[in-house]
Amino acid sequence: KSRQPKSKETKVRFTVVPVSNDGQFCEGKQTGNGHKFGLKSPAQGYDVEADQSDTLTQNSITSLLSSKFRDVAKRWRQYGVDSPRFRKRLHSKWESMNYEIIDSQLQRKLNEEKVSKRKLAMLMLSNWLVYFAIGIGTALMAAGVQIIVELIAHQKFSLLKTYLDKCSTDKENCLYQPILIWMSINVGITLLASALVTYLQPMAAGSGIPLIKSYLNGVRIPGLLSLQAFVAKCVGVVLSILGGLACGKEGPMAHSGGIIAAGIGKGRIPWFKKYIDLYGLFRTDHNIRDLVAAGAASGVSAAFGAPVGGTLFSVEEAASFWNTELVWKVFFSAMVACFSTNFLLSAYEGHPTQLSNPGLVRFNTFPNLTFDLIEIPVFIIMAAIGGLIGSLFVVMNYKLTVFRQKYLHRKKWIKVVEASLVSGVSALAAFVLMFTIKDCTTAEPYNGHAFNTTMGCDGEGHNAMSTMFLTTPEGCLKALLHDSYDNYSVLTLVLFVTVFFFLGVWTYGLSVSSGVFIPSLTIGAAWGRLIGLGVIQLFPNQVLTSKAKDVGKYALIGAASQLGGCLRTTISLTVIIVECTGDITFGLCIMLALMISKWVGDFFTTGLYDMNVEVSGIPLLSWEPPPLCDHVYVSDFMSQPVMTFLPVEKVGHVYECLMGESFNGFPIIEQDPNCDSRYKGKLRGIILRFQILVLLSKKVFCQEGQVPSNQNSITLKDFQKTSPVAVRIEDIQLTDQEKQYVIDFRPFMNQTPYTVSLNFSMPRVFRLFRGLGLRHLVVVSDEFEPIGMVTRKDLAKYRAEIKKGMLHMEHLT
Ligand code: ATP
Repeated sequence: KSRQPKSKETKVRFTVVPVSNDGQFCEGKQTGNGHKFGLKSPAQGYDVEADQSDTLTQNSITSLLSSKFRDVAKRWRQYGVDSPRFRKRLHSKWESMNYEIIDSQLQRKLNEEKVSKRKLAMLMLSNWLVYFAIGIGTALMAAGVQIIVELIAHQKFSLLKTYLDKCSTDKENCLYQPILIWMSINVGITLLASALVTYLQPMAAGSGIPLIKSYLNGVRIPGLLSLQAFVAKCVGVVLSILGGLACGKEGPMAHSGGIIAAGIGKGRIPWFKKYIDLYGLFRTDHNIRDLVAAGAASGVSAAFGAPVGGTLFSVEEAASFWNTELVWKVFFSAMVACFSTNFLLSAYEGHPTQLSNPGLVRFNTFPNLTFDLIEIPVFIIMAAIGGLIGSLFVVMNYKLTVFRQKYLHRKKWIKVVEASLVSGVSALAAFVLMFTIKDCTTAEPYNGHAFNTTMGCDGEGHNAMSTMFLTTPEGCLKALLHDSYDNYSVLTLVLFVTVFFFLGVWTYGLSVSSGVFIPSLTIGAAWGRLIGLGVIQLFPNQVLTSKAKDVGKYALIGAASQLGGCLRTTISLTVIIVECTGDITFGLCIMLALMISKWVGDFFTTGLYDMNVEVSGIPLLSWEPPPLCDHVYVSDFMSQPVMTFLPVEKVGHVYECLMGESFNGFPIIEQDPNCDSRYKGKLRGIILRFQILVLLSKKVFCQEGQVPSNQNSITLKDFQKTSPVAVRIEDIQLTDQEKQYVIDFRPFMNQTPYTVSLNFSMPRVFRLFRGLGLRHLVVVSDEFEPIGMVTRKDLAKYRAEIKKGMLHMEHLT
């Protein structure tokens, strides 16, 4: 079923079989009058019954199935757990990680070696030191990016302000100058940002969180954790923000943190397509995954000054492999990152000991962050709006992503032109809004953090729109959260939120490094502020406005709702926002906003990151198995026949099999002496393609009956040193004589692979994969012979969906 390459939808095949009176299928028995008929799926019977009197035409079968599925569809709807998905296909290029420790003779020998107490202590210490170094490394990177962005952005906006102020007077009348300068700066910088990502490092595109999430889920993403990707990500994100795009640097921080972690863990420096090994403590996929989780948490922690939120972010996004010790280590890294970023930024500002900059984005303290219980219904309505606008964002971005994949995929220069166009349009839109909306205010911007211009105000105050545009998106967010009640008119906010929403949708997914946290928060803060203004207008004398005309908290709830509606992560975002505001009392409202916006959003679409994952065809396994798949058994979705090897195989045969098939795991069987077939026999282990490739490239084979001279010199390190994607069968050259030799898999194969029997249900298989981070699961018969194979793609392929009121079960190709 899974091998049908063209058809996207595979129909479940039913057989019409007689049913006895007690409801049992009685295949092969004579049917006579009074017999009922049932429809039986390959694995299990459905209790659909038809009287024998029904003529079983195609139509009647269809109507029977329809009525059956209508019931299931109804039950499925009651479930209401799975939101509509974007997944259309799975891409075969994504392979899985080897999280499982290979239980080979080689590994067992190592396990049996005595380890001194001192060595154990050193190992533990170095482990903690690595987590410490991840925190420090991430902080250095985060502080560096922040300082460079702030310095250059300051210069850019002060230049623009000078020109705008000068040219908007009647005397000068040269407004074409600032807009040309603005557009040129934006287009020039974005051109660089996009060319860097498009031509040199495509892995640095976007926020990187969907890819990090997939990696932690167990999908191998070549190049994701490379040094090149790190440099491109850091430089790229600085350029994207300076290029005036509607994006933030917080998402990319998680990716960069992950790269730092993997780099520190592996302990090797790339040098002209080779590596210089410094130390080799953490080379297994398993070790690196734990470190990357810590790196991602440190990145989020440094970005928001939220160590707990950062830790929870890692847990929430990738929580299949957690234990208390790992959480503790990840939290330690996140805390070190937060503290060190704070120290570095405070030192940059000249007061290192005051520690007043805990993260790159702080929402700063709100003077009136109190709420009355009667405000909660307003917050709930805002959360629902956040869910709606968030899913609109996701849907529009999905359409754009599909369009980009279809039409802009092949030509790299078009991607660069598109990014530059967006930055040019961003500058132009900002300028047009500032020019046309003459919303002048004398209210001082909060903390004097933003630039503004007197354009169109004839010396009476400054242009309110300019406060939001003559700054980075983070500055704009702070302005919306903290500026006083009368800083912006309703029209200014409506136009700003509309324009910024579309710019945000257009920007996310461009071929540049960019994050979506800040634009989402900004959009939400803008419409939240609008609602705040509305509430104050509607209830001028009510308790909710009597304390102060404070729209900041509405902006904050709007921001949280919008973020929840887009991303759908709840626990970590709640904690991040609470840590950013530093006020626990308001935590309840933020949690409500995030939860409700998630529920509303989930009703329409999956979250933005999940949409990205699905559109890329990455076989991500979600938390829960697909709904209503309890009746699906492993026999329904396993692959068969299984390609197996004998413990000692002819090199030529192995070579041909690897050339012909791309499978990454091969069960090893012991040939049944009573059976002629070389493919029948008891399961003895499993060997990975990568292991075989290492053995072939190191020529660990010999003539039959002998032992290869180099067999004993092969150690686990030889496997760990080589990247699984670096060796390809096409690169291995074998002579005709070598092809006649035999290769012995026994010392290297995993002797105890996970196996299940045929009647294992899908939810249980799903939980096995998710919980243990499995790559291959061998389905065995009662005689312990491998009869099927299950990989993560087999599970990710399976999905159920309601179309026109009917349940469709689909196997994606
Ligand atoms: P991964 O890509 O997750 O590292 P893999 O490359 O071994 O694992 P997939 O690419 O997921 O496997 O395999 C595609 C299909 O081939 C799946 O349906 C899987 O069940 C099947 N398959 C994998 N290994 C074998 C095998 N040894 N014999 C027969 N079918 C297999």
